[in-house]
Amino acid sequence: MRAFNWRFWQWSLATQILVGLLIGASCGLLVQALGTGARLDAFITNVTAPVGQIFLRLIFMVIVPLVISAIALGVAGMGDLRQLGRVGVKCLGMTLLLAGASVAIGLVLVNVIQPGHYLSAEKSAALEKQYGSAAQEKVTQGGQSVSVTGFLLGLIPTNPIAEAAKIFTAQDDGKALLAVMVFSVLVGLAIISCPEERTRALTAFFDSVFTISLKIIDFAMKLAPVCVACLAFNVTARLGFEIVTTLGAYVVTVMLGYLIHGLVTYPVVLRTLGGKSPIAFYREIQEVIYTAFGTSSSNATLPVSLEVAEQKLKLPPQLSRFVLTVGATANQNGTALYEGVTVLFLAQVFGVDLSLGQQIVVALLCILAGIGTAGVPGGSLPLVVGVLVTVGVPGEAIAIILGIDRFLDMCRTVLNVTGDLVIAVVVAGKDRGGALPPQA
Ligand code: ASP
Repeated sequence: MRAFNWRFWQWSLATQILVGLLIGASCGLLVQALGTGARLDAFITNVTAPVGQIFLRLIFMVIVPLVISAIALGVAGMGDLRQLGRVGVKCLGMTLLLAGASVAIGLVLVNVIQPGHYLSAEKSAALEKQYGSAAQEKVTQGGQSVSVTGFLLGLIPTNPIAEAAKIFTAQDDGKALLAVMVFSVLVGLAIISCPEERTRALTAFFDSVFTISLKIIDFAMKLAPVCVACLAFNVTARLGFEIVTTLGAYVVTVMLGYLIHGLVTYPVVLRTLGGKSPIAFYREIQEVIYTAFGTSSSNATLPVSLEVAEQKLKLPPQLSRFVLTVGATANQNGTALYEGVTVLFLAQVFGVDLSLGQQIVVALLCILAGIGTAGVPGGSLPLVVGVLVTVGVPGEAIAIILGIDRFLDMCRTVLNVTGDLVIAVVVAGKDRGGALPPQA
């Protein structure tokens, strides 16, 4: 039998984060049970809160550069769809269909289960005090934003830089992120429409901005074990066991959504549109599932997905290469579902009632955020924060779910890569690659 490895810095990041979570949450629950006092407040304010903040700030920092570069590049990358003709249109249609279905499942579940309401009004008020939430005010402000035309016009920014600068400030009327996203989509469309030699420099620039934003997320993830311990301590020390049950209800909601999407939506689509047996499909892609779960990264799983698509699913290589590469960044079903549930859950925790119209805006944001989410561990966190701020929930609220995020990330990455393979099967389905242009 192998000896236990005590060197925790050699453990996998996922294990380190889990251990951080358990240590932070148990210490928090312990001090809660012993009675909270002025000393605890001082400890949280001066030690654990600032350490936790380092992680959050690193994530917040990259929201604007990441959203602009990822969406512009994602849309520009879809330019190739045109060359792929019918296959390209099918691919885009399937991406939107699956993302729409996953967000809808998530939103229905979170409205039925209402995990955020497991927290008592008293604890919810304490949270608002802690995070200085102006949540309800913002929602009311958003509600006042008159006509549909006024709202839609507001999404076309006259000054995108000014809109980007509003994110995280009191001036954000709930439209800043959406306006920045609209700007980025337009930039991507403009890139496709101009001659390549004139846009090459800008695309390369966005590519560098994107890579650097991912590196900063990577730095944040390295600090995650310690920061997650501090954030979990803060939340449990202040809210006690109630937050554990509330988070339990949240995890059940997300996991139920993942299961429905993975075991109902995908099989139905595979059977009806792809003419493939779902059981055979899942048997053939096992390796992809294990890799996605272990790495929490669609990008890292890509080589395995490509191999499985060609060797086991027997898809035409040119088609699967295209669909899977675009899909690794632009098709993130599990992430879209998770983002919808998380935003609505935290809104419930903060007592923010979102109208149907506002929930539809959240759904649209999540579908767009799916395109803007990088296929790396924690890639969706900056986007979730952006959507939270848009609906009037303080971005810091993400701290509440950070501790358990890694596990949910492992599971949603499985759904993300499975979704890419489902699309590849459907698109190849009846054509068997026949509609593809000749290989260059
Ligand atoms: N880890 C996910 C992926 O790589 C992205 C995310 O949801 O954070 O697909």
